[in-house]
Amino acid sequence: MNFDKLYQILKEQPKYRVTQVKEAVFQKMIDNWTQATNLPKALQESLNAECPLEIDGQILLAKNGHTTKALLTLDDGLKIETVLMSHKDGRHTVCVSSQVGCSLGCKFCATGKLGLSRNLEYSEIIDQVLFFARYLKKQNSRVSNIVFMGMGEPFLNYDNVIKAIKYFNETDALNIGARRISISTSGIIPGIEKLAQENFQVNLAISLHAPNDKLRSELMRINKRFPLHELLSAVDKYIQKTGRKVMFEYLMIKGVNDTLKHAEELSHLMLKPLHMVNLIPYNPTGVYLPSDQYTINQFKAYLGKAGVEASQRYTFGQDIDAACGQLANKVKSK
Ligand code: SAH
Ligand code: SF4
Repeated sequence: MNFDKLYQILKEQPKYRVTQVKEAVFQKMIDNWTQATNLPKALQESLNAECPLEIDGQILLAKNGHTTKALLTLDDGLKIETVLMSHKDGRHTVCVSSQVGCSLGCKFCATGKLGLSRNLEYSEIIDQVLFFARYLKKQNSRVSNIVFMGMGEPFLNYDNVIKAIKYFNETDALNIGARRISISTSGIIPGIEKLAQENFQVNLAISLHAPNDKLRSELMRINKRFPLHELLSAVDKYIQKTGRKVMFEYLMIKGVNDTLKHAEELSHLMLKPLHMVNLIPYNPTGVYLPSDQYTINQFKAYLGKAGVEASQRYTFGQDIDAACGQLANKVKSK
């Protein structure tokens, strides 16, 4: 839905309409304005014409039932992917895309192979969450967490991402606590610096994936622009300013970054307050092989012994190519 247009129309209406509209969209989760029975018929009609609520989405279900992928078609025909991950403890996390494709071309990432088509508008980011919020509403459930780990680099579309987060956060909109929202970045330093100034409680995750510049530049060419020591010092400043924990994501790729030598190097970088490591089993995209579980255990144990807080991420939905970072290559070929 086009929120800019919506507010333009509501400008000519009494002030209380905004509250009525927000309630209908974000609490009742209506998907057609005729369901907003508290609005006058004429307004319902003009809203349906000017900013329709339908979201063009197609659902794919994972075999394990915990992961649901949606393929959304945007107004200009481009497609993006959004994933719902349902946890055993009742949480429902939506993994949203911030761009159509991505310009950064990390070697291990399916989205990176696409290149960038365009940035998403904040309305298109909100629609991804609304789509699953409506879906969950039918099961008497709601979205509890949001992660910017779908397609694209959120800090290369900073303003739209922050605007969308404000809607997620607002009590009269989706009312999802900032602490339940996470942004993952490949290490765009200006974005980290801006986020530090926002006075936001959102979580920051850094895609690290390698403990030295040589290897990191091989895997992620953005490292040439923002090398490790500069990235880590930006994170230090972020932590000083916000006092918030930062999660470093580390893919486990067989024989590439998963030896105990790498664990040792990594531990030197991470032995600082409020730094934690999340080991991610690599979802094969045809380039590398995933580390085996024994290697991941050894790596994690090494970090633990060295005094670094480390956890392993559960991989969702490999069977529908829905795990974060694995989105989109199949879509383009459709
Ligand atoms: N562009 C941002 C956010 C989107 S990617 C970033 O890079 O952080 C979200 C996460 O998925 C990142 O940590 C990314 O490194 C990871 N990822 C990419 N490809 C992956 C793969 N094949 N298997 C597992 N995780 C992957
Ligand atoms: Fe882009 Fe993130 Fe994929 Fe790298 S890992 S190509 S930054 S989406």
